[in-house]
Amino acid sequence: MAKSRATLQVQKLKEERQHALMELDRLREALKAEVDPDADEGDPDLVEREKVMALVQSLERKLESIDYALRQTQGGTYGICERCGEPIDPARLEVVPEATLCVKCKAIVERQTRLGTPAPSFD
Ligand SMILES: [Zn+2]
Repeated sequence: MAKSRATLQVQKLKEERQHALMELDRLREALKAEVDPDADEGDPDLVEREKVMALVQSLERKLESIDYALRQTQGGTYGICERCGEPIDPARLEVVPEATLCVKCKAIVERQTRLGTPAPSFD
C-alpha cells in the first residue's frame, strides 16, 4: 500500500513538473517579444516584463524543488520535513507535492526570506 502511494506521488510530481515546464516555455516566449528601446523605467511594458521575469525565476525555483522532491521519492525521504524531520501533512503534499517543509517550518522560513527579498506572487 505504501508503494502505490509513493507511485501516485511521483506521478503527481511529474505532472507538476510538466505544467511548470509548459508555463516556463510560454513565459520565456513572452520575454522574447521586442521591448521599445526608448522605454523608460516605469514604462508599463517594462513593468510587465519585470513581472514575467519574476515569474520565470519563481517557476525555475519550483522546478528545482520538484526535481529535488523526485530524488527524495527515490531515496525514500519524500514527505519528511527537512527542517524538523516530522512527516509533512499528506493534505499539504496534495496541494504542494514538491513541499520539503512542514507547514510550521515553511512559515518560519518564509518569514525569514521575506525579511530579505520579497517573493514574487502569482497574482
Ligand atoms: Zn518541519
